Amino acid sequence: MQPRKIAAGNWKMNGTPADIPEAHGIAEAAAAWAGVTVLCPPATLISQLAAEVPGSALKLGGQCCHPAAKGAHTGDVSAPMLASAGATFCIAGHSERRADHGETDADVARQCEAIWAAGMTAIMCIGETLAQREAGETLDVLAAQLDGSLPARATAANTVVAYEPVWAIGTGRVASPEQVAEVHDALRARLRARMKDGAGVSLLYGGSVKAANAAELFALENADGALVGGASLKADDFVPIVKALAAS
Ligand code: PEP
Repeated sequence: MQPRKIAAGNWKMNGTPADIPEAHGIAEAAAAWAGVTVLCPPATLISQLAAEVPGSALKLGGQCCHPAAKGAHTGDVSAPMLASAGATFCIAGHSERRADHGETDADVARQCEAIWAAGMTAIMCIGETLAQREAGETLDVLAAQLDGSLPARATAANTVVAYEPVWAIGTGRVASPEQVAEVHDALRARLRARMKDGAGVSLLYGGSVKAANAAELFALENADGALVGGASLKADDFVPIVKALAAS
């Protein structure tokens, strides 16, 4: 089984209805290739986008979810809520959630279960800090995060794994192709060892991906796409990344 090529955009806490034309531009690019294009806008925009780009090749995703389906959790959003708004993907374990909200590997594993129970695909994120990289701990840290954050019933159909070095997110400092290759090859081996269809799990790189550095990353054997933050906010920045993935 070949991994699906996936270009995913994460708008983070950015975007109001005034930004919807950008999503239309991204939806046009999504229709022009055979891979998967996902946009994760703020939850407030999902249903409006689902209504405006119905049946489009552009898939919509949530950025996080509470592990419970409903209840007294002020300010949180649940996986069934995101799915009912039109999301078919949801990010789990983004480093900004881990840092800002103290989400642990165990929390992320529960979120994956909730995402699957709602019929969505989890985009599960892991990544080392700069201190961990400089201490030579990268592969051990990532192996522990993968094992702790990904429940046993993960499959290539319900899960995408995103490697996002914390030091590369929003910093303009992209990991080198050699660094990405080392990590993605190790993650592929670990996924193959623990899952029957581990060879088919899409492995995305995230961290300051731009049009200028996308092609060299997508040329790597185990880089099946990207999770893109800042450069997904404007169609003019994101569409060339989608095209670079389509051409890879
Ligand atoms: C992200 O938020 O997942 C991300 C990779 O951000 P950026 O592309 O801005 O570094």
